Amino acid sequence: MRALVKNEAAPGLSLLDVPDPEVGINDVLIRVLKTGICGTDVHIHRWDAWAQATIPVPLVVGHEFVGEVVAVGENVNDFRPGELVSGEGHVVCGRCRNCMAGRRHLCANTSGVGVNRPGAFAEYISLPMTNVWHQRADVDLEVAAIFDPLGNAVHTALAHKTLGEDVLITGAGPIGLMATAVVRHAGARHIVVSDPNAFRLDLARTMGATVAVDPTATDLAAVAEDLGMDEGFDVGLEMSGNPAALRGMLGNMAHGGRIALLGIPSEEIAIDWNQVVFNMLTLKGIYGREMYETWYMMSVMLQSGLDVTPVLTHRFHYTEHEAAFDAAGGDRAAKVLLDWS
Ligand code: NAD
Ligand code: ZN
Repeated sequence: MRALVKNEAAPGLSLLDVPDPEVGINDVLIRVLKTGICGTDVHIHRWDAWAQATIPVPLVVGHEFVGEVVAVGENVNDFRPGELVSGEGHVVCGRCRNCMAGRRHLCANTSGVGVNRPGAFAEYISLPMTNVWHQRADVDLEVAAIFDPLGNAVHTALAHKTLGEDVLITGAGPIGLMATAVVRHAGARHIVVSDPNAFRLDLARTMGATVAVDPTATDLAAVAEDLGMDEGFDVGLEMSGNPAALRGMLGNMAHGGRIALLGIPSEEIAIDWNQVVFNMLTLKGIYGREMYETWYMMSVMLQSGLDVTPVLTHRFHYTEHEAAFDAAGGDRAAKVLLDWS
């Protein structure tokens, strides 16, 4: 099969012929239809310090996809050829305390699709049946391809109650943008989105932000005052990994405010812990998606009117992968799709 491979310990990806994946007795073989490029894939493409320390070479990369079941292992009863599916990108161990208690998203021994094990930027992918999600028949195929990052957005956005609340979202990357649509759908009052990128701020307005601002030019406290918010933000979703963004959030929360942190900082961040203590803030780290409550919520919110399609800014055939990665790494894109059909 054709696949995008990190074939040597250097920048770039190679489009190669590689052997079809093996299908174990508990596995589902899926023909990939569409994939999304994640920030993680851009890191792997660039071969930055994180990628050098993490990615085995050679490796088929990619983890955001939708596809069609073509074959199943002999233990698999719930999936049949022809069904439309996506895959959860974290393969859990099944044996640790959290896995055994049904809290699989808290597994301490996850293996990442396209990071630690072969990925989805290929004509076929084989996954354990426990990692395969049936898509609803009415799902938009392009949105189905990005259930993995949509799941990050949904997991973070639903970590705290947002009905009627004033929400601050720092970072309008694909995930912050989708979280904006989710908290709008979930009934938030004011949604303020901050990002220095003007192209993404425009998208944030389309996705339902009340106000979208460049935090290097506009003071968040002034925005809150303009909106008539007396006490600060009730809920904060940190989706940039940027130190200034986190500090700005901590300084603008209401007493008792609740923060969910998804953004991955590239270095340690010092914060004023007095703000956490005296304002009695709750900080919750978010990794991945809940298996499979987040997946259920994604499917049913899409059926009840959630629209994340504005986040889809670019589409390429997989043979145009270089142009696709250029777009994904640039500052005038959100989610970039690759077509494998
Ligand atoms: P992204 O890099 O596309 O978006 C981050 C955005 O933050 C960018 O638009 C950038 O301009 C903006 N930003 C930079 N400085 C800022 C500041 N001071 N204030 C506000 N915004 C600022 O990333 P993404 O794909 O949307 O992912 C969001 C974050 O979540 C990233 O840090 C990513 O690594 C992380 N992530 C975490 C998980 C998880 O499971 N925890 C999963 C996927 C991604
Ligand atoms: Zn486990």
